[in-house]
Amino acid sequence: MAVADSPVMRQYAALKAAHPDALLMFRMGDFYELFGDDALAASATLQITLTRRRTAQDGDAGIPMCGVPYHAAEGYIGKLLQAGFTVALTEQTETPAQAKARGGKTLVSRDVVRIYTPGTLTEDAYLDPTQPRLLVALVADPHAPARGVLATLDLAAGEVTLRGVALAHIGHTLAGLPVSEAVVDAGVDAAVLPHIPRRAVRVQPQLFVMATARNAIGRAYQTVAPEGLGLREDADVLALGALLGYAELTQMGKLPALRAPLWHTANRYLFMDASTRKNLELTDSLAGGRSDSLLGVMDHTATAAGARLLARWVSEPLADVEAIGARHDAVGTLVHDTPRRATLRACLKDTGDIARAVSRLLLGRGGPRDLALVRQTGATLPALQAALPATAGLLAHTRAGLEGLESLTATLQRMLGDDPLPALVREGGFMRDGVDPELDRARTLMTRGQDLLAELETRETRDGLSPKVRYNSVWGYYFDISNAQLERATPPAHWVHRQTTTTGQRFSSAELMALERDLGHAGQAAQSREEQLLRDMVDHVRHHATPLLAASEALATLDVLTTLAEVAARNGWVRPTVDTSFALEIDDGKHPVVAARVADFVPNSCHLSDGKLWLLTGPNMAGKSTFLRQNVLLVVLAQMGSFVPAVRMHLGVADAIFSRIGAADNLAAGQSTFMVEMVETAAILNRATARSVVILDELGRGTSTYDGLAIAWACVEDLATRVRSRTLFATHYHELTQLESTLDPVSCHHVAVKEWKGDIVFLHRVMPGAAAGSYGVHVAKLAGLPTPVLARAQALLDGFASVAKQRSPKGGLNVTDLGLFAAPVAAPQVALHPLEARVRGTDVDSLSARDALALLYELRGMV
Ligand code: ADP
Ligand code: MG
Repeated sequence: MAVADSPVMRQYAALKAAHPDALLMFRMGDFYELFGDDALAASATLQITLTRRRTAQDGDAGIPMCGVPYHAAEGYIGKLLQAGFTVALTEQTETPAQAKARGGKTLVSRDVVRIYTPGTLTEDAYLDPTQPRLLVALVADPHAPARGVLATLDLAAGEVTLRGVALAHIGHTLAGLPVSEAVVDAGVDAAVLPHIPRRAVRVQPQLFVMATARNAIGRAYQTVAPEGLGLREDADVLALGALLGYAELTQMGKLPALRAPLWHTANRYLFMDASTRKNLELTDSLAGGRSDSLLGVMDHTATAAGARLLARWVSEPLADVEAIGARHDAVGTLVHDTPRRATLRACLKDTGDIARAVSRLLLGRGGPRDLALVRQTGATLPALQAALPATAGLLAHTRAGLEGLESLTATLQRMLGDDPLPALVREGGFMRDGVDPELDRARTLMTRGQDLLAELETRETRDGLSPKVRYNSVWGYYFDISNAQLERATPPAHWVHRQTTTTGQRFSSAELMALERDLGHAGQAAQSREEQLLRDMVDHVRHHATPLLAASEALATLDVLTTLAEVAARNGWVRPTVDTSFALEIDDGKHPVVAARVADFVPNSCHLSDGKLWLLTGPNMAGKSTFLRQNVLLVVLAQMGSFVPAVRMHLGVADAIFSRIGAADNLAAGQSTFMVEMVETAAILNRATARSVVILDELGRGTSTYDGLAIAWACVEDLATRVRSRTLFATHYHELTQLESTLDPVSCHHVAVKEWKGDIVFLHRVMPGAAAGSYGVHVAKLAGLPTPVLARAQALLDGFASVAKQRSPKGGLNVTDLGLFAAPVAAPQVALHPLEARVRGTDVDSLSARDALALLYELRGMV
């Protein structure tokens, strides 16, 4: 019989057929085995040996196979998940003895007990404490196919959101979310594929069916009417239902307690497209890593849930003036009350990640430590409540969110033992004595048994024999007698010989065996009673799921508000005024990240109210890009509810921020720099409104001078006259500065430098008017370009300038000369440097050795 035909492999094949997309880890004894293609993939990813399972009939063929020991499985599963795989874990669901008792066949039954997917993890071992993992579902609206609904689930924290999206722009929405896995309807996968690894995209059309989706929602929220959750359209029901249905599949039918879905309506939030988010380095810096991002300098949170929420506030600033004001009020209260802030932060440090603990408990995966975390957090709440105002505003709201957990906390304090507690339920010993009579009885028996063993040891001590009672898992309890003792005395007749070792012999007796049985029963009774009591405590938690999730959210909010206050107080940030005007006035603003790194950061002001456009010139390295980013980062800060690094800021709430910065090559996507630049610019011109804030850095760099200038020129005109957004436009095209005189909203500014002894000094100060020059040669000098090259460059530059003067008697290069731009400027005739002229005029081949030396002396004289 070949391997594939054996009963166990038929069992394997049936389970694998039910989970074709997952790597199936098949429990056999102490190992999880993988077969076939799964084995090939896993052995490569885990770098473990690939073998073959075969019989004599198979010859060399058989089936590829690899395995990992069950007790080390967690680490291996983690690596497979990291690589984007899904893992289905199969266990033996009965013992060989049970299988035998069941009937003639001795094959133990096996079943999939858990499916690990990248978006549905709950174990701390697989989760980053500060980073959520989202499962999302996307569906096209059956009634308006260009639009869709995106539902998200953070299973580990029980959070659900819904948002309406334009399918064409789904990438921008996904860019702001930590998506680990997506469930999509057929036909929608193409929309998400560029943004999510292919392995993490599940096309599951059978879940996107109205009746199926309604049922899934009903089970998750214990409701028959999804409308009660605020779901209005079919697409809402389909997206949420498919999301929950899929999550349920991965959890073998269970789901943790979920918060009611939170609606993210597009106009409540500040819009930022994917490249703007990246360019602004909100949560990750372009160089990679989080420490040099805006989040990195802001994150002084005390809790993991707070860190996750802060990341969300940074990624999703608000666009609703009232909601923003409410956050500013709360931060303001805490900025000015240092003792209160210190108390809150100290208390918050004593709280735990209860959302994740509760999810694990309710999924049947939690242990004593998760309960202890709930207890510990619950015990901290009264002190937090006492430190919060009770009347109005966001702080009072978070205070209200901390209520309703007194009895649960008291119960856990009464029942659960003191720290440190075991990680696993089966280790036992986590319940207090005196809580449950049945457990106490079993425990007394166990202790009594220990005493009885000691007594027996004494009683059996006789003429030269002093037996020690010992235990091992194979033989159970035994009397241990050394060889030395056996030389002097003979064991009594009622001892039964069990085993001979090198050092002595082992005996048992009827009395010892009876005691062992009693002890075993007592131990088992204690363990199963403790397990039952743990289930009772989990039920308690289940009944308090709603206040627990509310408390978790309130704690995270409180953590973020105190953090924003802490950052503001430490750095002297001020409260911005955000209203419905079209203002953008920043006095002495600073770049929040650069200023934290550079000692003497020079503050700069920015006045763009009512659709002004600043054309910013200045040499490389002057600080143009820094200034551009700094002003929009202040908009992000203000609208996420933070104070800002400025002396004063007045902002008419922005609906969107757009940026086009630098030459971000997207070679992987097969687009040239210039193409990327134009695509992004097109998106800005098409989507920006008078409410938007736009920064354009060096637009046109990616193409030839005249093309680039022409495009930049047209864009400035369009932004200043039609779009009327508040705009900063940094450019190396000095020709553009002429637009100041023809377009009213446009004004010129430059980042000042000072010439000093032939060098330049960067002042980093933004001043009115256009820059005097571009100082490219000076910057090149700073960069260490060789002196002869610099001299030649300066000579060429002088030559270009004089040619330009001839063509335009008014001086300077006039854009009409470039006249869109009929003929290219002729290559200028430039006077040669005398050194170069002398060298060029020499016929090297005809020089004698003596003449060559003379020439060298002559040249040195010229230098
Ligand atoms: P540009 O875009 O004009 O080439 P950057 O904005 O890239 O210049 O700035 C170059 C460097 O100058 C930055 O890395 C930063 O260290 C420094 N810098 C920029 N702005 C300031 C400022 N306001 N105060 C102090 N240093 C600054
Ligand atoms: Mg720059």
